Amino acid sequence: SQTPPPRRARAEIDLGALRANVRALRARVAPHSQVMAVVKADAYGHGAVPCARAALEAGATWLGTATPHEALALRAAGIADARILCWLWTPGDPWDQGIEADLDMTVSGTWALDEVREAARRVGRPARIQLKADTGLGRNGCQPADWPQLVGEALRAQEEGLLRVTGLWSHFACADEPGHPSITRQLELFHTMLEHAEKAGVAPEVRHIANSPATLTLPETHFDLVRPGIAMYGVSPSPELGTPADFGLRPVMSLAASVALVKNAPAGHGVSYGHHYVTEHETTLGLVPLGYADGVPRHASGRGPVLVGGKVRTVAGRVAMDQFVVDLGGDVVEPGTEALLFGPGDRGEPTAQDWADAADTIAYEIVTRIGARVPRVYI
Ligand code: PLP
Repeated sequence: SQTPPPRRARAEIDLGALRANVRALRARVAPHSQVMAVVKADAYGHGAVPCARAALEAGATWLGTATPHEALALRAAGIADARILCWLWTPGDPWDQGIEADLDMTVSGTWALDEVREAARRVGRPARIQLKADTGLGRNGCQPADWPQLVGEALRAQEEGLLRVTGLWSHFACADEPGHPSITRQLELFHTMLEHAEKAGVAPEVRHIANSPATLTLPETHFDLVRPGIAMYGVSPSPELGTPADFGLRPVMSLAASVALVKNAPAGHGVSYGHHYVTEHETTLGLVPLGYADGVPRHASGRGPVLVGGKVRTVAGRVAMDQFVVDLGGDVVEPGTEALLFGPGDRGEPTAQDWADAADTIAYEIVTRIGARVPRVYI
């Protein structure tokens, strides 16, 4: 992490909150179920290595990433012992390095098995693989009709000593919509696909399907391991399910900047590109040095909330690449005053969910897209 001057734009990452969230999630699952901390996409914008370490300290035993490169970066940073599962492989990806780095590598189709077998022969060591079933998400994973063939081929390669099937898993489409009929359908199909693989001779260490909403609300989906992402960062998977506090979770990221300039403006003053905001009265305007390059959604122009000088103000006019303006309504605010875009909410500041509402998106996208220019400060 860099240490910016204290009042520059920054994302504060509360690792104590992250640890407490992991403990709260652990308390929700049966003692035999392990927790995989999902740290893909730079830990949803929070910083993969510090978050992975904090999650492991708090009792997570697995880490999850999308790409093999994300997983290898965790090993390169010195995370040597934790199991790491990665699930989004493309032809030509570094399977050899994955074997050497002891990754658990997800296989969703026969092309991947071919590449794993070749890599294992080159490296001279069996690969750890997990077979992923598409039980209804309709995205990655093996179709039920192709499952017997994939399982059969994996078992043959296992008998040849080229790999070991360490897990069988799937992913939900609608776990954040209570009572959605696809949840039971997926769960039933997962049971059927597990049964097939186990009868054929697969003895997985872990079977898993639960993301955050399932971890929080569907205990029957926990199996041997749960894979929470967003909940670990203290954000609710969906406002319909509840607030973070309802689940004993605390938001980990706060996004703040300091007001760069304050000026008086007369009535009728156009603000920012396109003049979509024109002051109605004489007022004061404050400049916040964060823009869409930093992940502040341009779609929240005229809507995004910001706490400045004890009041929640609204973005006036368009969010630009590096900056936006708030109408301070005539209040006298000193340059350098903190502008708090979002945080846990207990200082009266908005939350990432408020920004998601303002930008017509989900809170996952708000935190994950905070740009590389914004230093992460770990507290
Ligand atoms: N498992 C897989 C395969 C994922 O792709 C994700 C993220 O989308 C997760 C688990 C974690 O999901 P969530 O952040 O909803 O907990």
